[in-house]
Amino acid sequence: MTTKLYFKDVTIFDGDAFFRGSLTTDGDRITRIVRNGEIPDGGTPTAAGEAVLIMPGMVNLHTHVPMTLFKGVAEDLPLKDWLEKRIFPLEAKFISREMCRIAGQWGMAEMLLAGVTAFADMYFFEEDIAAAAKEIGIKAAIGGGVINFTTPDGKSPDQMIAYTVELAETYRDDPWIFPCCAPHSPYLTNENCLLTLAEISQKYRIPFHIHMAETRHEQEAYQKQHGKREFERFDELGLLSDRFIAAHSVWVDDKEMDLMASRGVTVAHCPSSNLKLGSGIAPVAAMVERGVNVAVATDGSASNNNLDVLKEAELAAKVQKGTAHDPTVLPAGMVLKMVTANPGRALGNSFGRLIEGGAADIVQVRLDSVGIAPVHDPAAAIVYASSPADIAAVWVNGRQTVKEGKLLTVDRAALGNEMDRLAAAVRRSL
Ligand SMILES: [Zn+2]
Repeated sequence: MTTKLYFKDVTIFDGDAFFRGSLTTDGDRITRIVRNGEIPDGGTPTAAGEAVLIMPGMVNLHTHVPMTLFKGVAEDLPLKDWLEKRIFPLEAKFISREMCRIAGQWGMAEMLLAGVTAFADMYFFEEDIAAAAKEIGIKAAIGGGVINFTTPDGKSPDQMIAYTVELAETYRDDPWIFPCCAPHSPYLTNENCLLTLAEISQKYRIPFHIHMAETRHEQEAYQKQHGKREFERFDELGLLSDRFIAAHSVWVDDKEMDLMASRGVTVAHCPSSNLKLGSGIAPVAAMVERGVNVAVATDGSASNNNLDVLKEAELAAKVQKGTAHDPTVLPAGMVLKMVTANPGRALGNSFGRLIEGGAADIVQVRLDSVGIAPVHDPAAAIVYASSPADIAAVWVNGRQTVKEGKLLTVDRAALGNEMDRLAAAVRRSL
């Protein structure tokens, strides 16, 4: 039986604007959207009226979802120590297929309950993450991290590149899994690897997802070594394109921002991670001004420590307003696009938008809870007043995954037990 949904006379945010209207779906597609009215042959309403808002499933454009296991293991450390002294040793010890499946799915559960229906991941054993994503019902843009040394899953850089091609072939037309190239960063991935991955990204038309200009130390060391800033050098190498997803991009200058805009680069802005690791504040208001496509993402839970992109959007807006001494920058409607349509554009499909013929990735929000009502301005209500408890239901490709705060697709208690077992092993090792 195919699911048909009918949202009758509700508030709609379609990834671009808010309006009152109705929407129907059939199976995995949205069939009709009508402004200011009902759909006569819509059938029995799934939800209707004043207290209902629907919006596109949100997209978390930069994360390392199995790192949910390492939430809180490395607090109050600078990035270099955080990575080299805590995270790398823990990863060497704990990364396995099982860990990626269980901790990955735990993170996916958190995202679905917060209205996230797609995420871009960079980690290891990505085929296990893909299987967990399909089971729980979330879309995953997966990329195996390419670094200059052997990865925790035992692969050389060449093997990781071959693995990237394998992922691209395996998931070519998959409605749930979207392969990506995922070089770690300019400092951990050499230029030969970057160039080979750029060819793969071009050939398969898949995203090129990388950490860029995250800390001042990184930016200065790079400039010393290459005589140029990161985006300048990357442009010289022909690496920048509209498939380029630049996580962080904290230490970029005006010239680099213009390059990013002209090449169609998307920034995955991760304010919590950048603030917690003391990396700084990415100049995203200036990027927007210069025409850069900006998305807001969470990064992994070892540095955030959650995967709730709406919370992140709220922080992004407030930090930019505060540092610019200008409350007009990054209005609520704009940061909502940064977790829906803007990241969707980087993934090259209808993610993050409600459009006729597009995927039925829909989040239903209740507007009558004590925290959110009264709603005079729906964008401000979602960004500043809502919490995951206001997410009434979630559908991904037309499949319902969340209903009234409960996951419908996996056994929450059984998954929790498996996660407890892994977490206990991590605690014993600290
Ligand atoms: Zn990251």
